[in-house]
Amino acid sequence: MANLQYACSSALVDKATRCSTYAAVNDWPTDPSQILCTLHRNRKERGEKVVTAPGVDLLMLRFFLNHNWDESFRDAGVPFVEKNIDNTIKVETEAERLGRNPYRYERGETADSGVSVFGKTKEGLRGVAVDTLLFEFATAGYLPVSCYRSPKPNGAVWLTASFSRVLKNGSVSDEALGCLARFMQASFDHVHIWSNPLQPPRHLITTGTLNAAGRKPLESDDEETPRLKFTGGLWTVQ
Ligand SMILES: [Zn+2]
Repeated sequence: MANLQYACSSALVDKATRCSTYAAVNDWPTDPSQILCTLHRNRKERGEKVVTAPGVDLLMLRFFLNHNWDESFRDAGVPFVEKNIDNTIKVETEAERLGRNPYRYERGETADSGVSVFGKTKEGLRGVAVDTLLFEFATAGYLPVSCYRSPKPNGAVWLTASFSRVLKNGSVSDEALGCLARFMQASFDHVHIWSNPLQPPRHLITTGTLNAAGRKPLESDDEETPRLKFTGGLWTVQ
């Protein structure tokens, strides 16, 4: 591999948003915090303080479901909702409880758009396995807060599963989690990962999104397929 685009691992001046400049790397970093864009690298070399991008407070995983998996999640009690129900998590209340200002960016000092962690490619990451992510989330203190199915305009169904280290007011059944674990025993043809603000309303807490399509089941003894790693919210592939 060569000339991979990886989002700089440092935070912007507000310390709440990941830098949106890409650093070219020859391979995915084992220590993502070392990968800096030219600006941040120069700052570090001048002895100035460079802050690593913040971890993710709320993580949303989105997967296309085929008919069989849609039925499996339905049978596991995962609800089908017409609208995005994540607002019911009441992030606003939580942000206030945590002493954060849910509208900190009202003055417009930060761009709204998120950062695509692995470069701006239409295809995204190709053929990475996601089977170790749930374990990583759990060990990093992320709890499942919501899981639901929702329709796409073309008749397809999305699964959305959210995990958070700060929100406590959600829950996902063991049956649903078990189904998700089986579903994620797989690699995906296209994986897009965004380090992004929550919308709407804007910028309540730091969020990350993973969108994946093209599921391929993973053999239990598979050691060849590259693994997507959460690495504290910076993300890498190993
Ligand atoms: Zn940077």
